[in-house]
Parts: sequence; structure tokens; C-alpha cells
Amino acid sequence: MKYKAAVVSLGCNKNLVDSEIMMKYLSLLGHSVIKRPEEADIVFVNTCGFINDAKEEAINTIFEMLELKKQGVKGVFATGCLAKRYSRELAQQIPELDGILGVYDYLHIKELLEAFEKGEKYVCTDGTPEYMDDMPGRMLATPQYTAYIKIAEGCSNKCHYCAIPSIRGEYRSRSMASLLKEAKQLYRDGVRELIVTAQDSTRYGEDRGKNEFLLLLKELEKIGFTWIRILYAYPSRISDELLEYIDHSGVICKYLDMPVQHTCDKMLKAMNRHYGSDAIEHIYDKVRSFDSHWALRTTIICGYPGETAADFRKMLTFLRERPFELLGAFPYSPEEGTVGASLPHQTRRSTKQLRYDSIMLQQSSLTNDLNRKYIGKTLKVLIEGFSSENNTYVGRCEYQAPEVDGCTYVSGENLETGRFYNCLIDDVFGYDLYGSVTE
Ligand code: SF4
Repeated sequence: MKYKAAVVSLGCNKNLVDSEIMMKYLSLLGHSVIKRPEEADIVFVNTCGFINDAKEEAINTIFEMLELKKQGVKGVFATGCLAKRYSRELAQQIPELDGILGVYDYLHIKELLEAFEKGEKYVCTDGTPEYMDDMPGRMLATPQYTAYIKIAEGCSNKCHYCAIPSIRGEYRSRSMASLLKEAKQLYRDGVRELIVTAQDSTRYGEDRGKNEFLLLLKELEKIGFTWIRILYAYPSRISDELLEYIDHSGVICKYLDMPVQHTCDKMLKAMNRHYGSDAIEHIYDKVRSFDSHWALRTTIICGYPGETAADFRKMLTFLRERPFELLGAFPYSPEEGTVGASLPHQTRRSTKQLRYDSIMLQQSSLTNDLNRKYIGKTLKVLIEGFSSENNTYVGRCEYQAPEVDGCTYVSGENLETGRFYNCLIDDVFGYDLYGSVTE
């Protein structure tokens, strides 16, 4: 039987890559992959199970899709992190689900659908990430000019607040050969912005005995992409050599996504982060010592158990003295099975919220001030569409990643989506830049 299949992708960009692999498997099995679940015969909900809010969103989405059975949808399946972490609970508590696949089990879609046709429920969650080296490719969910490439699976950093190692296992790098084969195919398919992602991109190769992250970047650079963007760089694996290489590269964006999570040594130790504030200071000062402009992005957790008001104030000061262009913050969410969740002295929800609000308030003015350095500069902008609200084109410059950062509004005529244009920046507002095409 051939179906119209829809994949609802939740969570992070690594999960999005999995959804793209799933869509490719479905299309190779002869099913037509469509966007709108309400028009589909079968729906896959690729879930996130990272923190409570994400789990809630996943459960709500599953029930939403199950509701569509009243409108003709025949089967609803749960896949991804929540499915891997809670497959038994899902099967018991949501018997309406027609099957469950874990994070490394997409190659079993054929068996899942064969069981479904026999009225049986197929559950498989014990796959391993090696399948990614032989996967048949991806059906991109991103616009055809930009794509993520997931260079490794799992994580071995074991941060005390994080459930990902218990879901996705130890860190496993993909083979260099499979990555270059995939990257070359993405380039042939029109991708010009390649976004490197993993739980810890900078650890690439270490599980095979030697860090090969820089070597991988050099190989990817040869393919011809206009931009290569690095996400999830782990502070203790960001060397001066890597930073200098990026600073001289005309292709790797001068954009460093470096989640630090905190800036106080006491808290970094409590979180089991393998670096201190001195490492953050060193990387920060090194980047600021370059003549060229860079954008530094980070994420912060507020209210991890044991964080005092003094610790938090100290972090606010650190981030004022060494401001990041881009910062995301999260009130700490105690995750079942993690060290952090079992600690006494959990911070009150209201205190976490208060700290979250004050750090984001401080950050909004810091970002605005830092972005003023782009005024009068000509930046390369990737046009992504037209904003009728602003009556201008909208795109991103190398200092802006998709989905998480601001954008650049560009005035010009007949600009093509997916093409790069040189733009003179004449204004900024918060996270957004404004300019006009120069050529
Ligand atoms: S680095 Fe830490 S927070 Fe990130 S995935 Fe690994 S264990 Fe989780």
C-alpha cells in the first residue's frame, strides 16, 4: 500500500536532520511525502524529549495528530527522543499510537508499516547511530539553499542537567567519507550555506582517538559552499588554532555558537562543564583581538541548584564586561534521571524566572549596542524572502543563524531568494539589521 505521509518535526536541528532522513526513507519506499498532516494517510511525530516543556509539546502534538484520525488519517507514529526515552510509557498510556521508533531506528520504517498493515504495533528503539554512515540521503525540510549537516551523534560530556546522553548515548562521530559524500550531494542540490551541527561539534573524531574537527572543516571548505556555519562549539575544545583558521577562512562564518551555560567556576563545576571562566575569557578575548568582526552566540542556564543571588549577579557582570552579540537563556528545568534533578536546594520557579527576565533584559540592550558596529559596513546577505510587513526583502548575514537569531531587512529590487547580495547596513534595531543592496 502506498501512502501520503507527513512528518511533524519537533525539537532541535539534529532532530530535523532525522526527520529529513525519515522522509527520504518514506519516499524511497514509494510513499509520497507531503507537508500538511491533515491531508496525509499516515503521520510521524518526530518528538523531542529534552526538557519538560518539550515533552509536553510532543505529547500535545501526538494527541493533535491522533485527532486527525476523525478526518481520515489512518496511522499516527511516534519517533525521536521522547519515543526513545519513554517508549513503554507511550505504548501503555497512548494505545491509539500505531507504532514507535527510537532515534536510530528510521531504517525500520518498512517493518513498521508492514506491521501496521497487519494491524500490529511495531516498536523498535534499540538502534545505534552507525546507520547514519549508510543512510540513503535526506529530503530537505529547509529551503534548498541552506542545510544542516549532523557530524556526530550522542554526547559524552555528561552535563549534570542534561538528559541527552541517556537518550542518544555516547558520542559517535560519523565517518569523514559519509560526511563528505553527503556534503557534496547537498552542494549539487543547491545548498550554499552548510550548517555544521552535533551535540558537541568540536569533539569530532575524538571517539576514534583523534580530534579531526579542523580537518573536517578544511575538507568541507573545498566543496564550494559560500558559507559554512558552526553550531555547538564546546569551550574546552575551541583552540586558538581553530579560531585563527576561521578568522582567515573566507567561507567559515565568523560566527561562533559556544554554549557556556554559566560563567562562575563554582556553577560550571556543579554542572560538570569541563572548563572554567578563564577558558571563556581566553576565547572571548582571542576573538575580540581579531581585526575582523565576529558574532559570538551563547546560551545560559539560570537557577541551577546551588546558584546564589551573588553567583547570578557575578554572571550578569561578566556578561556586561564581555558581552555576546547573541544570547539565549533558559530557566533550569530539573530532568528525570539527571544529577541536577536529585540535588537538594532546587531554586524556586519564581526566582528562576526573575533571573531569566533580568538576563534577557540586559542582553537586549547589549545586543543592540554591539550590532551598531555593522552600521556603515557592507555585509553579504543571503536573501530568504520578502517581508510585506516591512516592505523590504529579508535575509541573514553571516552573523545570523536561521531560526534562532535576528535577520537583515534589505531594500532593493527584484532580489532572488537563495542568492547572496552585498548590502550596506545603515541601521540596527535589537537583533535585526537594516540596509540596502550596493550592487
Ligand atoms: S554538551 Fe552537555 S548539554 Fe550538551 S548535549 Fe552534551 S551533555 Fe547535554
